[in-house]
Amino acid sequence: MGSSKKNQTCYMCSNPATSKEHVPPACLFPEEKDIKTSIFRNNLITVPSCDLHNSKKSKDDEFLMGCLAGIVGNNVIGFFHNMTKVRRALERKGNDYIHTLMKDPQTKTMQNEKGHVFPVLVGRPDLERLRSCFEHISCGLFFHKFRKIFTGTCHIIMDFITYENPEAEKYKLLCRKRFEMEPNKPKTEGSNPEIFSYEFIEPDEFGLIAMRLTFYEGANVFIAFQGEDSKEPKNLITELISSGVKTIVNFKDGSEFEFN
Ligand SMILES: [Zn+2]
Repeated sequence: MGSSKKNQTCYMCSNPATSKEHVPPACLFPEEKDIKTSIFRNNLITVPSCDLHNSKKSKDDEFLMGCLAGIVGNNVIGFFHNMTKVRRALERKGNDYIHTLMKDPQTKTMQNEKGHVFPVLVGRPDLERLRSCFEHISCGLFFHKFRKIFTGTCHIIMDFITYENPEAEKYKLLCRKRFEMEPNKPKTEGSNPEIFSYEFIEPDEFGLIAMRLTFYEGANVFIAFQGEDSKEPKNLITELISSGVKTIVNFKDGSEFEFN
C-alpha cells in the first residue's frame, strides 16, 4: 500500500478507512461467467470505507440489485443480469427474497423501446431502504468527485417510482423537466454506461438538482445535495412546497407545475 493510501478516511464518516467500497455496488455489474465478457466491469468506482460503512451493506447491495435489475424496467443487459445473478439469489433464498424486495409482488410483461417483451416483477418496493441505498451511492460519488465527505441532506427522487403522495409525484416530474431543460449539457460519466452512468450539474438558483444516476439505461434517480453549511434557502422550491405555500414553477417550453 503506497503512502498516499495511508491516512485515508471513510467516505461516509471521518473514521480511518479499512477497505474499499464499490459505488454503485459491484453486484449490479454482470460477471464474466454470466455474460461471457468482462466489458461491463471496466474501471468500477471505489471509495475508501470504514468497517461500519462497508460490512453491513452486502444485504442492501443484493436488495438494490433485485430492485433495479429484477423489478424496474431496464435494458437488455439488465434483463440478462436478472436471468442470471438475480435468479441465483432468488433460487438461494426462495420467495422470501421477493418479499424482502417488495409488497404484493406480481409478474407482468413489459416491452422495451426495441419491441422486446420481457417479464418483470411488479410490486411496491421498500422505498425507505431504496432511498438509503441511493444515499450511500450519492455520498460515494460525491466523495469520488470532490474528494471530501458530503455533510448535509441528500434529497432523493426516484424517477421510476409512482409516488402515492401527489405532491411528491409532481416534484418528481419537476425534477425530470428541470434536468431536460438544463442549458449546460452535463458530462455523462461512468465507464460502463449500459449498466450505470451519472451526471453532475451546476446547481441552479434553487440548487434543485445536482446529480442524476442512470441504471441499465432506463432507471433514473435525481439527487439534490443540500450542504449543512448553506446559509441561504438553497433549495427554495423545496422550502416553499414543504411550508405549504402555493408555488408555481414555469419552464421555458410553457409547462407549469403547481404545488399546494
Ligand atoms: Zn464510515
